[in-house]
Amino acid sequence: MKTAQIRSTFLDFFRSKDHTIVPSASLVPSNDPTLLFTNSGMVPFKNVFLGSEKPGYVRAADVQRCLRAGGKHNDLDAVGYTARHHTFFEMLGNWSFGDYFKRDAIRYAWELLTSVYKLPPERLWVTVYHTDDEAYDIWNKEVGVPADRIVRIGDNKGAPFASDNFWQMADTGPCGPCTEIFYDHGPEVAGGPPGSPDEDGDRYIEIWNLVFMQFDRAPDGTLSPLPAPCVDTGMGLERLAAVLQHVHSNYEIDLFAHLIAEASRLTGTADLANKSLRVIADHIRACSFLIVDGVLPSNEGRGYVLRRIIRRALRHGWMLGVRGDFFWKMVAPLVAEMGDAYPEIAAKQSFVEQALKTEEERFGETLEHGMRLFDDIATKSGQVIPGVDAFRLYDTYGFPVDLTADIARERGMTVDMDGFERAMGEQRARARAASNFGSKAQLPAEVASALAPTVFTGYDVLDLADATVLA
Ligand code: ATP
Ligand code: MG
Ligand code: MG
Ligand code: MG
Repeated sequence: MKTAQIRSTFLDFFRSKDHTIVPSASLVPSNDPTLLFTNSGMVPFKNVFLGSEKPGYVRAADVQRCLRAGGKHNDLDAVGYTARHHTFFEMLGNWSFGDYFKRDAIRYAWELLTSVYKLPPERLWVTVYHTDDEAYDIWNKEVGVPADRIVRIGDNKGAPFASDNFWQMADTGPCGPCTEIFYDHGPEVAGGPPGSPDEDGDRYIEIWNLVFMQFDRAPDGTLSPLPAPCVDTGMGLERLAAVLQHVHSNYEIDLFAHLIAEASRLTGTADLANKSLRVIADHIRACSFLIVDGVLPSNEGRGYVLRRIIRRALRHGWMLGVRGDFFWKMVAPLVAEMGDAYPEIAAKQSFVEQALKTEEERFGETLEHGMRLFDDIATKSGQVIPGVDAFRLYDTYGFPVDLTADIARERGMTVDMDGFERAMGEQRARARAASNFGSKAQLPAEVASALAPTVFTGYDVLDLADATVLA
């Protein structure tokens, strides 16, 4: 089943269960200035859960474009390393706003997976929140999933990809216990079942998360009940497509196979499993959709996330031997692949191409020098790239620190993030002093704009933390 048909089958199924089909919202949340990106299907419905918005229906289904490249949900450092993570992906979702709850949500999911998509039930595992006996009993006694394939899971204590059966969009807002459905890709693939010590492998892959949205978390951490319990589900389209197309990795599904073939042609790389091709194919989706949704490369907030993703993609092209521009040429094949489902990307194709090309030319001037400097630093540095050197790469050559950390990680090295922060702080102080004398105009552009106040400082800090953990 092709990706396009998987999308329409999902929507047809929920339409037949009286759900209203709603279009995908933007990657830039219109209702929440504290949130960097739409990181899941529930974001556009946040105010509906909170009761302040009444949509005129109690059941809905959609295919929501999502981005996890900053803030609480950041999968940027998993891209190229796991078979199942993207920065940009599509989330299939069904919603109950004070209508059905656990029983129907679980039954619908099971019916769709086993009777419509015809997945073999014996390959499916489920997890429930450790105290949620109600969900456990529905799975076990009503649906008939045997006890040895149902796992009780508590709260994630901070490991980046450990199972977590209490879902929250961010540190505040709607949240609740969830139940997740996993597909077992078979013993050829390394990894253990959910909740086991080696669950981070790619054998048992989470395909669908059903959240029983019951609480609103306040900034001080306390939970208060929502006006009505709701259901929020999210299923990764690309993960489901991998299962239905009998491939293991998301990057081998029809949609990605075409993008990767194009990246292979543009970069002259024959090995289609090359990690850099996967990263480029992932990043062209994230970057193009961000631009379509109104974000442009810049040095702060969302624009800086976009810039970082573009520069990571360009560095991968460079690693494959590309010495001119190439990334913007991936927009046309992306439009061919996704323009039917998202006409907005077809409509803005040339704008997206131009924005990427401009950024490509800009970074192209310093990428090669920066890479040479990185090699010199790496040769003299041992295991850790000193913060002052990471800062020099940032300040002089436009290498975002997470890019430097990513290059270091490939060579089994890390970056001294504290040292980088210190060097950045010193530069800020120098710049502030200089600007008091009216000479701010002489500052390098990256530094000058780093001085500008930004709403998203907290997220930038989180991003750095994530990069350190995973490096
Ligand atoms: P994982 O544990 O595998 O990282 P998750 O629990 O973080 O997934 P959810 O927040 O529950 O994911 O999102 C709902 C669904 O969206 C997941 O079950 C999965 O199918 C899909 N999904 C989540 N993150 C990604 C991603 N980075 N790329 C592709 N699909 C994803
Ligand atoms: Mg995750
Ligand atoms: Mg999970
Ligand atoms: Mg989940």
